[in-house]
Amino acid sequence: MNSVASPTVVIVGASHAAAEAIASLRKFGWLGGITLIGDEPGLPYHRPPLSKSYYKGEVVAEKLLIRPASFYQKNDVCLMLGRRVEAINRDTNTLSLDGGEQVAYQYLILATGTRARKLPISGADLPSINYLRTKQDVDGIQSQLKAGSKLLIVGAGYIGLEVAASAVKQGVDVIVFEAMDRVLARVTSPQVSEFYQRLHKEEGVDIRLNAALQKFEQTGHGFQAITADGELIPFDAAIVGIGVIPNSELAEDAGLACDNGILVNGFTQTDDQAIFAIGDCSNHHNILYNRRIRLESVPNAVDQAKVAAAKICGKGVVYDQLPWFWSDQYDVKLQTAGLLQGYDQVVTRGDAKSRKFAAFYLQQGVLIAVDALNSPAEFMLSKKLIQQKFSPDAAKLADPDVSLKVFMS
Ligand SMILES: Cc1cc2nc3c(=O)[nH]c(=O)nc-3n(C[C@H](O)[C@H](O)[C@H](O)COP(=O)(O)OP(=O)(O)OC[C@H]3O[C@@H](n4cnc5c(N)ncnc54)[C@H](O)[C@@H]3O)c2cc1C
Repeated sequence: MNSVASPTVVIVGASHAAAEAIASLRKFGWLGGITLIGDEPGLPYHRPPLSKSYYKGEVVAEKLLIRPASFYQKNDVCLMLGRRVEAINRDTNTLSLDGGEQVAYQYLILATGTRARKLPISGADLPSINYLRTKQDVDGIQSQLKAGSKLLIVGAGYIGLEVAASAVKQGVDVIVFEAMDRVLARVTSPQVSEFYQRLHKEEGVDIRLNAALQKFEQTGHGFQAITADGELIPFDAAIVGIGVIPNSELAEDAGLACDNGILVNGFTQTDDQAIFAIGDCSNHHNILYNRRIRLESVPNAVDQAKVAAAKICGKGVVYDQLPWFWSDQYDVKLQTAGLLQGYDQVVTRGDAKSRKFAAFYLQQGVLIAVDALNSPAEFMLSKKLIQQKFSPDAAKLADPDVSLKVFMS
């Protein structure tokens, strides 16, 4: 058994959510021990730059850290990095680690995130087929590419498209294969998908829609993909970005309720009151949309960490935040507020050709989400209006000559 002072909060996963939970625990007055156990070798770091500035070499690895090493020392955090938790033993309030060690907890926070979904086709285990989740993944990919190399990206979601934008700027020849009939199909409207398809085409990326891959093969010179139509696509490296799977097995094996993530209540507690789940691995009932959702975003990880820490410190704050996201591709910053599922009307404002416009999503006249492209004012306004369940005048919303201030009154 480890010798950390009791009572102790143990956090599993050296994640974004974990770093925030530590800061919030101390801020809200937690005087007991804090232990952070993570299976990656280093301290928690920012993942969003992995497909953006870090991929392009604009940011060095040290700058990715969410908090410097001194933060963990100052807050008296027991760090167990490069260690994997194998089991939660709820009868003894202990964790079993790789190597057999036991760690005791009074409160346990699961911040285990997600892992990349694997592509189930022949040849997907070849060394040039990559996934992008960690800093090591990016370093490995970069070692397989140089200017003029051919990069094959499978999946036109946020990560696939962000990497396409980053790679093409490095002089790499990029081809994107997407099984659906439009890019970003899971997360946005056809109007915004069309914008991104045109944007990438203008920037020199070859996007193939309705495209199915049959297998990967190693050739005498490199690698090739074979499409369902029999086309041969040579490449030097491939990146598969077809979604993620929540790391909820630890919770499931311990008998905690899971369904697309670890089910939590408004305080981020699982059905064991001493065990919390925060960030990408957790699935909560969203008050605003009145349904269960699992979010993959930094704002959600940060906000849920604060809620868990508050509950542990005896302050009952319910998680009630509006989901929001961002994506950077070329000179376009997309900021999304809310969730668009169930919309029945799209109102656009601005000019897509100028790379500055917003798509507002309404359901029975009520604003439920916005995609704001290089339009920070529209994003900020919508964050407020969505929470107020506002019904805007669609004609005024679409008219760029009508000031946004009209909607604030
Ligand atoms: C390339 C990329 C780009 C992204 N871009 C954006 C963006 O632009 N905007 C945005 O909001 N979000 C973005 N995200 C998502 C964002 O990074 C996550 O939502 C955020 O990091 C929160 O994750 P988390 O804290 O839940 O866990 P994670 O950061 O995923 O960390 C979980 C950690 O737990 C570890 N772990 C799992 N199981 C165990 C175990 N049993 N024992 C020990 N350790 C374990 C994992 O190895 C991992 O280190 C991006 C993600 C990636 C990969």
